Amino acid sequence: MEQFDIAICGYGPVGSTFAGLMGKLGHKVLVIERNIGPSPTARAINTDGEQLRTFDRLGIAEKVVENSTEVHCVHFGDANLNPIQTIEQPVGVSAMGWPNQVLFYQPELEEFIRSSVESENNILIKEGTELLSIDDTAEGVYLKCKNSDGDLTFFSKYLIGCDGASSFVRRELNIDLEDFEYNQEWLVCDAHLTKEVNIPKKEAMQVCDPKRPGTYVPGRRGHLRFEFKKMPGEDTNELEKDENVWKLLKPWINENNAKLERAQVYAFHACIAETWRKGNVLIAGDAAHQMPPFMGAGMGTGIRDITNISWKLDLLLKNKAKEEILDTYQKERHSHAKWTIAQTVTIGQVIEGFCAAAEGKEYEPKGPSYDVNFPHIPHGIYGDPADMITGVPIPQPIISLNNKKEMLDRVISSNFAILTNESNLDLSERAKTIVELLDIKTLTIDSNDDSEQRLKTIFEKYIAVLVRPDKYTYGGVNDISSLSNMIESLESEFSLNL
Ligand SMILES: Cc1cc2nc3c(=O)[nH]c(=O)nc-3n(C[C@H](O)[C@H](O)[C@H](O)COP(=O)(O)OP(=O)(O)OC[C@H]3O[C@@H](n4cnc5c(N)ncnc54)[C@H](O)[C@@H]3O)c2cc1C
Repeated sequence: MEQFDIAICGYGPVGSTFAGLMGKLGHKVLVIERNIGPSPTARAINTDGEQLRTFDRLGIAEKVVENSTEVHCVHFGDANLNPIQTIEQPVGVSAMGWPNQVLFYQPELEEFIRSSVESENNILIKEGTELLSIDDTAEGVYLKCKNSDGDLTFFSKYLIGCDGASSFVRRELNIDLEDFEYNQEWLVCDAHLTKEVNIPKKEAMQVCDPKRPGTYVPGRRGHLRFEFKKMPGEDTNELEKDENVWKLLKPWINENNAKLERAQVYAFHACIAETWRKGNVLIAGDAAHQMPPFMGAGMGTGIRDITNISWKLDLLLKNKAKEEILDTYQKERHSHAKWTIAQTVTIGQVIEGFCAAAEGKEYEPKGPSYDVNFPHIPHGIYGDPADMITGVPIPQPIISLNNKKEMLDRVISSNFAILTNESNLDLSERAKTIVELLDIKTLTIDSNDDSEQRLKTIFEKYIAVLVRPDKYTYGGVNDISSLSNMIESLESEFSLNL
């Protein structure tokens, strides 16, 4: 029976990105996917600078950006598409070293991820193969699968269920969902322009029409995303009919200037799994949480999950950490994902609020409704996250090292790193042992090395920060004698094997 370090159920955007990360870290990876080929239709359309940092580890971030577009603002508009409230979007390269948010086309993104994954020869992809049962033992997980060749059994030290909203893995583990009782059905349409049309190409809109709330998002190279709420009493089959869809699209496009890719009613839910790990089995992505797409953050939450768990599994598989490190995954990710779900539900409520106002009901928006300033992670950090530095991704400068300009992440790679403006670090013996175990890189950076001054606010507060392999700042210190304490704290925080 073939044996693997990591088995992944699901070759969607989350499972495939995870396969790439683990494969590049040198582990033997199995991917089990019941379908063949990337999803033919778009669902996710929006990604952000933090996720681009993960895609960069697969060597595809530039390709994603080149094949995407940026919107300059998001309007909440009335039934006539006149803006009621406008949220400006920062464009261009952000502190993450990549654009803040870009709009991509999912089948293309999946191709990019897959081409990176499939260039690794330690990853076996079994498409057209369904996972049918899991037997988790002290040594690892036995996986029974079926494909056109018959029954197959694999063994893997760990299994990660990236198998989407109706996750088989989650159900097998009897994991309950905390349900936020957000259940709506929306018609999701993707269309492509065939002729130039005078519609906004850099402005998205949440249409707050009480008769039919909707969303318009202009994607890359003439791809357009529309979402329309299914209203009470409406029939799904009727709503999905082309003639009805074209009626809904009339304010923007028609059959003479665009073609329809698909129009399908989706059920939007808001929920989160109560447990993200049982024994050697973990879940990530839509298997662990679902949210309405108003903030375009569902896939992104999954990419954050696997960026978090990948380095922990790496340490475990390399015998540098004990099994307890896996418990830090849910501790760090659960409340962050829950915040994201709440935020997307709030955007839905703002749309409903403006719709109510249009019908003469009282509604006062409570400030801007798009907050994409993600919170800090609550665990796996050192010091006070109120500094807005600890527990959030470190900004990414282009640094000059040895007369070469390089993006910070590419210098750190998948290691921990100390960024400091001090040249002489006098570490304790214990701290030195940890630096050696984790191969922690030390980068001495002065302000001339960081020409965009992206680390300026950090070095105004601290003389050294410790960055985790997922590029979240573990913590900062303002005297060198405390640096050893911070490094030593990694031992208990991540159950290191010393
Ligand atoms: C209309 C819409 C718009 C969205 N917009 C955005 C957006 O702009 N930005 C964003 O970040 N997110 C967005 N999302 C959410 C995003 O699409 C999902 O969060 C994302 O696709 C989840 O990825 P995943 O890899 O976790 O799961 P999936 O993409 O669902 O992949 C799961 C895979 O597991 C496979 N599988 C399941 N069970 C088995 C089994 N037993 N054996 C083998 N294989 C199995 C399935 O075939 C599937 O390929 C949107 C969603 C919708 C519906």
